[in-house]
Amino acid sequence: MSKMHLQCIRCKKIYELKELYLCDECGGILEVQHNYLGKKDRVIHELLRLPSFNIWKYKNLLPVEDPGHMVTLFEGGTPLIKGNHLSKKTGFGKLYFKDESRNPSGAFKDRPMAVGVSKAKEFGREIVVTASSGNAAASLATYAAKAGLKSYIFIPESTPPGKVSQAFVNGGIIIKVKGSYSNAYAVAKMAAREFHWMNITTTFLNPYAVEGDKTIAYELYHQLDRKVPDWILVPTGAGPLVFGIYKGFTELNFLGLTDKKPRMAAVQAEGCAPIVQAFESGSRKVDAWGTPGTIASAIADPLKGYEQDGELVLEIVHDSRGTAVAVSDDEILGAVFDLAKNEGIYSEPGAAVSYAGFKKLSENNVIKEKQSVVCVITGHGLKDPGSAAENLNIPVIGPDLEELKSHIKL
Ligand SMILES: [Zn+2]
Repeated sequence: MSKMHLQCIRCKKIYELKELYLCDECGGILEVQHNYLGKKDRVIHELLRLPSFNIWKYKNLLPVEDPGHMVTLFEGGTPLIKGNHLSKKTGFGKLYFKDESRNPSGAFKDRPMAVGVSKAKEFGREIVVTASSGNAAASLATYAAKAGLKSYIFIPESTPPGKVSQAFVNGGIIIKVKGSYSNAYAVAKMAAREFHWMNITTTFLNPYAVEGDKTIAYELYHQLDRKVPDWILVPTGAGPLVFGIYKGFTELNFLGLTDKKPRMAAVQAEGCAPIVQAFESGSRKVDAWGTPGTIASAIADPLKGYEQDGELVLEIVHDSRGTAVAVSDDEILGAVFDLAKNEGIYSEPGAAVSYAGFKKLSENNVIKEKQSVVCVITGHGLKDPGSAAENLNIPVIGPDLEELKSHIKL
């Protein structure tokens, strides 16, 4: 049996590692399955070695078969920051922030994109495409540039200008699509089929990209001294990050390195919360959201046409005895400032939702003080500075002492 294969999550059909998105048989989500037994010693050796500076430390657990195809800008290896002032304020002694804004393009998307673009090289593709709310766009353009590939990028009209500019300067060919992210998703899928481009849309559409997200779990395992946190809170759009992190911990558990798995909390914005809506109604079926309305644009994904992504996330939430929770724009904005002013972590609104979710869940006593908690901070504040700083009220003065004095409070 080969080291890895693709398997349909729904009908269990097995495929070799080829360029396939959803199941041929039933349209279900595909997952890379590893035959750990054939490589157990090598994999355990990789997992136990001290972390190096990028995700390729775990290459035996990633679906790129020829090391010559790996494309890297040293993504991953991001710091786990222990809460200081926020720990004191909340009473949580084991509160941590996994700061994914330190990735090359400033967002966690570099993990799935590095794997996805490497896989495109392995498949011999010259053009790659993604649908994105902004961060995946910037990341794909970045990695395509490094790999020497051409990238087409479909984004909603309302994408924050910083992300658009980042993708553009990195050479991405950008086309805006009217309506929500789900429309951009549909166009990317259409384009990939029509023009035979490799689709690296980072929902669950590309089974290889999702594997990059797993590496966060391996890093946390090291950074927490081989312990598993009680809770991991994840900003959630379609939710591949929830799936990836949980899969990483499931592997560690399977390989006998840990004796438990974390509880996963999927955090969404109240203005676009299809997964939370299903969770709260006790349903395992997710309905697409209408028109999103939130400052957390990075996770504003209505899941229209790919509701099964949300259902897979729900399954993980239940399997891990976790939860799904929605937070308001005011709570998100509060979290942006809390993280920045107390811990020096400047995050975009869509990234601060994990901390906003933590606040809500700890206040409701779902997460308890003695438990260890990791909030994943998915993207940098400079990605979308406008929403947190609309009316700054910053004074302007001349080079004059009296004018200066009128603004200094002693
Ligand atoms: Zn299937």
